[in-house]
Amino acid sequence: MPFETSPTSSGHARAVPETEASRIEEIRAAQLKFFKSGATLTRAFREEQLRALSSAMEKFESKIAAALFEDLGKNAAQTYITEVGLVKADCSRAIKRLAGWMKPRAGLPGIALAPAITHRVPQPLGLNLIIAPWNYPVQLALAPLVGAIAAGNVAVVKPSEVSAASSEVIAELIADTFAPEHIACVTGGVETSTHLLAVRWDHLFFTGGPVVGKIVAHAAAEHFSRLTLELGGKSPTIVTATANLEVAAKRIMFGKCTNAGQTCIAPDYLLVERSVHDELLTRMATAVKGFYGEDPSQASDYGRIINDRHFERIAKLIDADKVFMGGQTDAATRYIAPTILRDVGVDDAVMQSEIFGPILPVIAVDDLDEAIALIERHPNPLALYLFTGERKDEKKVLDRVSFGDGCVNQTLIQFADHNVPFGGIGHSGTGAYHGDASFWTFSHVKGVVRASNMFDMSLRYPPFEKNMGLIRRLIG
Ligand code: NAD
Repeated sequence: MPFETSPTSSGHARAVPETEASRIEEIRAAQLKFFKSGATLTRAFREEQLRALSSAMEKFESKIAAALFEDLGKNAAQTYITEVGLVKADCSRAIKRLAGWMKPRAGLPGIALAPAITHRVPQPLGLNLIIAPWNYPVQLALAPLVGAIAAGNVAVVKPSEVSAASSEVIAELIADTFAPEHIACVTGGVETSTHLLAVRWDHLFFTGGPVVGKIVAHAAAEHFSRLTLELGGKSPTIVTATANLEVAAKRIMFGKCTNAGQTCIAPDYLLVERSVHDELLTRMATAVKGFYGEDPSQASDYGRIINDRHFERIAKLIDADKVFMGGQTDAATRYIAPTILRDVGVDDAVMQSEIFGPILPVIAVDDLDEAIALIERHPNPLALYLFTGERKDEKKVLDRVSFGDGCVNQTLIQFADHNVPFGGIGHSGTGAYHGDASFWTFSHVKGVVRASNMFDMSLRYPPFEKNMGLIRRLIG
């Protein structure tokens, strides 16, 4: 089960001001009017706005980097790789694909409906509310926005109050780039979110934890809003005896340590075949030294925990008796070393909920079937990673385990692949985005059958009985 984020979570030194309900209503009314004017419908307008967002990412790059350093100890290189660069890539891809996405697709219905042509016409949803979390605060607020703009919508973005510095920069970037009746940013925490969810949006796009996810889902039900939930979960990694252990070790620890483990698709726990367990652990420790040196607290590529509440939550999960590597913590700087725990039991605290920190619990298994049985103790994960040299192992896991997205012999990279519709299933979310999926998530596909007046088959009208032989053959 994903960790239960409290709806009252905050705790960063800098406070984000709440937004009043009356201000939200003003923005909403202006956006509704703008949307109804049809101004967002043309391809030229959408392209221009996507170009503006891409340019804004360059213009604000240094401010974004400073904010992410303040919030998460993220350096400029990582900020580019995991935030700014991804949004720019999304914009370029959307600009290239826009004409194809917008084009109505034609098809021929069956003979029983002839003569006619079917059109599938994408239509923007209208008013969108995008609520973002704190762990990749910029990218998770602005990448969904790319889809919203490409599909011809208006949108309000609500960044997380927990990543306060980033929230401020996102608000500045949006105000500097867009007309507020098209795209606006509303800042604040629970109070603001509660005002936002009290009114109707055509689509709620939420990224975050399951507790707030449920609140958002209730609001969607109340207003018959379309709902996209990008949640989390306990994402397993499996290593079989035939895996390339040297490569697996590096890729697993890179996936775990990026953003100090505060990644929704990070490998949460590791299931490794007993025969290669010791060698893999040794290689993982070597990989971490290669990335961050003897003391990761001194490495500029290694981040910090977002706030004191999360620091305490994660630090408590380290069982000193099971530490194979790492285990050091420093409350003053919210530093938690990359940590590997061995001989972990399924009932240990670290195996009960999403870790969302740089701790990797390891469980040795006899075979793939035991690994699959352990994975099935938790609800559908957001990601799954399998390291193996055998295609039959790959087939077994892909056929039998239900998860959002994942990789074979890699971690994390599914997130950056535009061909992957990124999203969860069941407890890890509903709906998907990135690449083509972003456009369709922010669109309704209107199906329209255009009938010809050339002839009008009498057998379509009553009385039917005399034509039933032919009707049966035509319908199928
Ligand atoms: P969270 O659910 O606490 O907060 C997310 C957003 O909801 C924030 O903007 C917050 O201000 C807002 N919010 C808080 N209380 C609210 C309320 N009562 N009503 C409405 N909105 C409210 O999540 P978080 O702690 O920011 O993020 C961590 C979780 O997000 C983890 O479970 C992680 O796996 C998940 N996550 C998922 C993805 C993904 O793409 N699937 C990406 C990042 C994080």
